[in-house]
Amino acid sequence: MPYSLEPSYDDDPRLRELVVRLRAYLNDELLPYERERGITPESRVDRPTLEHVWKRSRELGFYGISLPPELGGQGIGFTELCALKEELTASGAALSHSVLGDMGGPLRVGAIVKYATADQLERYLMPVVRGERACCFSITEEDAGSDVRRMRTTATPDGDSYVLDGHKVFSSAAPFADFAIVVARMAGTEEAYSAFLVDLDTPGCRVFDGEVPMSGQQMEGDLVFENCRIPAENLLGEIGQGLRIGIGRITLNRLLHCPSLIGAARRAWDLSVAHAKSRVAFGQPLLALQAVQHKLADMATEVYAARSMVMATAARADRGENIAVEANMCKLFASEACFRVADQAVQIHGKAGLTRGHEVEQIFRTLRMFRIVTGTTEIHKNAIVKALV
Ligand SMILES: Cc1cc2nc3c(=O)[nH]c(=O)nc-3n(C[C@H](O)[C@H](O)[C@H](O)COP(=O)(O)OP(=O)(O)OC[C@H]3O[C@@H](n4cnc5c(N)ncnc54)[C@H](O)[C@@H]3O)c2cc1C
Repeated sequence: MPYSLEPSYDDDPRLRELVVRLRAYLNDELLPYERERGITPESRVDRPTLEHVWKRSRELGFYGISLPPELGGQGIGFTELCALKEELTASGAALSHSVLGDMGGPLRVGAIVKYATADQLERYLMPVVRGERACCFSITEEDAGSDVRRMRTTATPDGDSYVLDGHKVFSSAAPFADFAIVVARMAGTEEAYSAFLVDLDTPGCRVFDGEVPMSGQQMEGDLVFENCRIPAENLLGEIGQGLRIGIGRITLNRLLHCPSLIGAARRAWDLSVAHAKSRVAFGQPLLALQAVQHKLADMATEVYAARSMVMATAARADRGENIAVEANMCKLFASEACFRVADQAVQIHGKAGLTRGHEVEQIFRTLRMFRIVTGTTEIHKNAIVKALV
């Protein structure tokens, strides 16, 4: 049997069944749906199209699958979630980010669920789980990225409300979201930050299309708050817990981004193998050249190494262990390794891989971003060394 980078999960019947069903949905429904509508990763997708995916994924049991059963999920562990997430990007589907709810859905809400009151769960989080509402997460500002403590957005207590003023940038999913989880500095303090649930149609809140990143995905938005009054009951957690909520979410996301990168690298590998078999140069397929074989060997090894780290860390998270350091190690290694895979894929594809809109070229641009997004390579290294030394 030839070696495959596509895991079979034969030792885990429940996971195998989930993965088989997910692959069937992606290949037999979602990809044809995208092809019929000409949807690519760079298309501007409207809300009804996204809702179609949310609802169908919910019917199939995938949307919100990682949430506990009492919140409408199936309570799958991080290991299973990582396995499913890898399949999404490995499929090459442009809307795969909406199947489990990464973009505006339950996975964006993620770990903050534990801070929500019963009322917040009912009004904000459960509609997201049902695919009726979408949310974004907003901490970054123009002058506050890695150094989030530089944020200027303030929350001023005023009677039964808080008044927000400031400007957030690069909030993924903001252009189609209904509400945002916003982290702001408490006015008059240097170091107290709080998190708020903010309906994006609140007077004083405006949403603008954000910059288009190099992946070409049109999913970013800017939020501008001017005297935007938020009811006191929309405070998430306690006053001063904002960074803990935001950074706690980011730590987990650092791990959960990795399988998406690994899936994209796997897709680049599949495309490279197919290209190396079909492209003829000097009287033989590229695959006959040892230089190309070595590239494929390096690519497969990088994918295997990244997946092994991520699955080991996910298993530790499933056992309830603290994975703060390992999540940084995984994101550091997976983002760099998967980018190297994409770079080799472009090399194997020659001019086709350099052509704007070729799938390998798009994967290359997307994977380049993840050496910065959700924590830069340098910030991961800082965190690892700080914990170790
Ligand atoms: C496509 C995309 C989606 C995003 N989605 C969201 C979102 O949904 N919500 C949100 O809030 N934000 C989001 N972001 C913001 C993202 O998390 C930030 O871009 C990231 O944290 C880095 O911040 P920065 O871009 O301002 O870079 P900077 O912090 O300005 O860093 C610039 C360079 O300086 C280096 N550097 C900075 N500080 C140090 C240090 N102490 N030691 C060593 N090197 C350092 C960095 O590593 C980097 O190389 C998104 C960004 C992109 C591009």
